Amino acid sequence: MIDATVVGSGPNGLAAAVTLARSGLEVCLVERESTVGGGLRTAELTLPGFRHDVCSAVHPAALASPFFRAFGLTERVPFIVPDVSYAHPLDGGAAGIAYLDLERTVDGLGRDGPAWRSLFAPLTEHIAAITALTGSQLLRFPADPTVAISYALRVLEQGSPLWNARFREHVAPALLTGVAAHVIGTSPSLATAGTALLLGAHAHSAGWGFPVGGSQSIADALADDFRANGGRIVLDRDVRDPADLEESRVTLLDTSTEFLARFAGESLSAGYLRSLKRFRHGNGVAKVDFALSDPVPWANHQVAEAPTVHLGGRRSEIAASERDVALGRVPDAPYVLVTQPSVLDPTRAPAGRHTLWAYIHVPYGSQFDPTETITRQIERFAPGFRDTILASATMTANEVEANNANDAGGDIMGGAVTVAQLLKRPVLSPRPWQTPAAGLYLCSASTPPGPSVQGMNGWFAARLALRQHFGIEASLADLA
Ligand SMILES: Cc1cc2nc3c(=O)[nH]c(=O)nc-3n(C[C@H](O)[C@H](O)[C@H](O)COP(=O)(O)OP(=O)(O)OC[C@H]3O[C@@H](n4cnc5c(N)ncnc54)[C@H](O)[C@@H]3O)c2cc1C
Repeated sequence: MIDATVVGSGPNGLAAAVTLARSGLEVCLVERESTVGGGLRTAELTLPGFRHDVCSAVHPAALASPFFRAFGLTERVPFIVPDVSYAHPLDGGAAGIAYLDLERTVDGLGRDGPAWRSLFAPLTEHIAAITALTGSQLLRFPADPTVAISYALRVLEQGSPLWNARFREHVAPALLTGVAAHVIGTSPSLATAGTALLLGAHAHSAGWGFPVGGSQSIADALADDFRANGGRIVLDRDVRDPADLEESRVTLLDTSTEFLARFAGESLSAGYLRSLKRFRHGNGVAKVDFALSDPVPWANHQVAEAPTVHLGGRRSEIAASERDVALGRVPDAPYVLVTQPSVLDPTRAPAGRHTLWAYIHVPYGSQFDPTETITRQIERFAPGFRDTILASATMTANEVEANNANDAGGDIMGGAVTVAQLLKRPVLSPRPWQTPAAGLYLCSASTPPGPSVQGMNGWFAARLALRQHFGIEASLADLA
């Protein structure tokens, strides 16, 4: 019998595997695909030499993550942290630009500059406390209550109908709403406001970085470390039930809650199974990757410097398009999240050429092909874009699920992100990673602290398994 098995090699499965192997355990990591990474894969999806991120592309959460900081991610993988964290072009050639430098951002926002400063400065000044507050369970008493109150008051303001009260023009609110829409949900709401303020604060702190070569570099660094500490990786193994695995003392699932219910079945209590059933998915994404002959001809030239761009127009337009998705419709002029990593990283495309990654929000399980809608929305802010397209590759929401079973219906968050589902992820418990089945843990984005590439879910689950089954007290310092 081996010590531990991890099913699934997304950032959380890999983080759990690294943590367990570094504690001296015999660990096997099993993955259904032929490469490791889950949401960290990078591949030639369009033409030879164009390297596209299949899922995640931009990594504010990884750069801020205590797990990745302890792991020394940026010493193992070269990162590019751009001066422009994100940009938001508007009709008529205007654009909001969020610089790494908060004061430079404030200077560009005209009459709303001071409002932006007073929103973000108290958060960026205490970014470690904000990261600690949001990077674990919502249920815990905050280590720094003053900072928690300051964050909570801002979330209440931006998550309520008062959200426009501090702004006098339309650029700053649009800039903020573009970040809020990283969560699929209607705005104003507490969940989208909490995300906007957290990611917005990272934009003026560690930044919105890109690993050179694409997100796969992060997965490869974790897998290399795991192997160097004696870990074994089995690829192309679609796990269906416990009989597909070697016997082991503990098993950690970097999977969906549906898979957990099928895998463990009757060894889970009826109450726990009911909670899993009640845990609901959010809406999905539909994505297009483009190979381009030239950089995107943005009407506002400053947008060309931004590897991350939010489209969709003013705050009210984005809010309306997100409402459409919530009502089960694909909007005509949706919010589009765009990344153009090759403007900073020449390894992503042949010389002079470019890759572009873009997705929209769509209803759960939608079969809508977003290629024309996304092309039209980019053309709106970059006339001539269509002429630069050499090739494209599309993933409907259903195909997002086919690519990774954890993303059911195209839900890339591992379950809807609402305040209720951040508290109960997937159950209300001081140890939500633990299941009622002996030695079985859930470590995916369906556990706290939720989605994004941060590895914390995997770290928390592995730390709990080490304590409960092996009497080992793991510390982040063990990862250095
Ligand atoms: C299109 C898209 C864009 C995104 N953009 C960003 C971004 O820019 N920044 C960011 O921080 N986050 C982004 N995300 C979210 C991020 O990728 C996820 O939150 C993160 O990958 C979740 O990690 P995880 O380890 O929980 O699961 P995943 O990364 O989903 O990995 C789960 C792994 O488990 C494997 N698996 C599942 N079931 C089984 C089974 N039965 N047998 C064997 N293997 C199994 C899967 O094949 C997969 O490899 C994006 C996601 C998508 C899909």
